[in-house]
This record gives sequence, structure tokens and C-alpha cells, in this order.
Amino acid sequence: MRTRWVLATGNRGKLEEIAALLDGRGIELLAQSELGIAAADETAPTFVENALIKARHAARQSGLPSLADDSGLTVDALGGAPGVLSARYAGPDADDRRNVERLLEALRDVPERNRAARFHCVVVALRHPDDPAPVIATGTWPGRIAVAPSGRNGFGYDPVFLVPALGCTAAELAPDAKNAVSHRGAALRALAAQLEELD
Ligand code: IMP
Repeated sequence: MRTRWVLATGNRGKLEEIAALLDGRGIELLAQSELGIAAADETAPTFVENALIKARHAARQSGLPSLADDSGLTVDALGGAPGVLSARYAGPDADDRRNVERLLEALRDVPERNRAARFHCVVVALRHPDDPAPVIATGTWPGRIAVAPSGRNGFGYDPVFLVPALGCTAAELAPDAKNAVSHRGAALRALAAQLEELD
């Protein structure tokens, strides 16, 4: 029998990506938006706390076990900014283009050797809202911030995230190639392995 889980997102793309990675594990994944559940406020200062807030909210509102992820970019020269504010770096109504512009402006006088950055993703699974032992998996992806955008794939900071090992930006990678090396791919594969151990 398939168990129904709620995913704390309204993003169809995320749902499909996560469902594909959990395929074959007897999990039927529903987006919280499909159940009429509004997004939780992400008020915490760390990715892991925000992922827990989102997962707990989805489990409580739905009565189902839940999954949530939280992700973002940290830049060494900016003391870890934009961090948990990655989606809203240029302000509450920010979009990807303005966030990238703000990042490039903040790093305008920073030389290439000091432009190290890292994407982070935390994924959390809760069996119920008061689960005292959440399953938590993380993934990171090291890179550098370019001086100008390049590439048309992906989203967010992908056009300025240089992947030194591949000699291109994340926005120049095909979706499958990005998933194979990205923070989100790594976190989801680690979560799937941990859930398998619990079976
Ligand atoms: P959330 O996990 O959906 O809250 O995303 C947080 C923000 O981090 C996104 O809006 C992007 O700005 C940034 N981000 C997270 N993952 C990626 C990625 O894979 N590429 C580019 N930007 C990302």
C-alpha cells in the first residue's frame, strides 16, 4: 500500500523532482497547495530550522507525514549572506534578476580569488507534527560567484554560480547534469537512503 505524504511546497517542479527521487518507495507525494494549505512563515535564521518549521506546519495542517526542504546561497566574502534570505535578498518583492544584481553589486570590489560561495539544501521528513526524531539530510555545492551572468537554464543565482570543476555556470548545465552534482540532488539522495534504512 502507498503511504500519502505532504510536501511543504506549492512548487510543482519541486514536487516532481522529489517524487522522481523517491519513486519506488511506496510514497504518494501531495503538494500542500493541493490540500489548500498556505505556506508557513520562514522566520528562523538557519536552513534546518526553516525546513523544520515548514515540515511541522504541513504535517499539522494535513494530518499526514510531511517532507520539506529549505535552500539558499552563502557567500564567504559577505559573511554568509544572502543565506536564509536568498529568495528575498533584494527586498520582499525581489525576483531572481534583482537578487542577482544585488549580489553582483555587493561583490563589485571583491577579487576573483575571494568570491567563494556555496549552495545549501536541507530536507526534513516528519512522521507526524510532534515527531521527536525528524529525518534530516543535507547537501552542499561549492563554487564561486562570477562577475557577470551566463547561461539560461535553472533559476535563482544559477547564472552567476560558477562550478570550477565543470568550467561553467550552473545555468549552463542541463537539468539532469545539475541534479547529479547539486546541493538539492545530494540532499534528496541522502534522504531517500535514510528513509530506506527506516523501512
Ligand atoms: P527555497 O528553498 O525555495 O526557499 O529557495 C531559496 C532561494 O535560494 C531561491 O529562491 C534561490 O534564490 C536560491 N536557490 C536555492 N537553490 C538554488 C539553485 O539550485 N540555484 C539557484 N538558486 C538557488
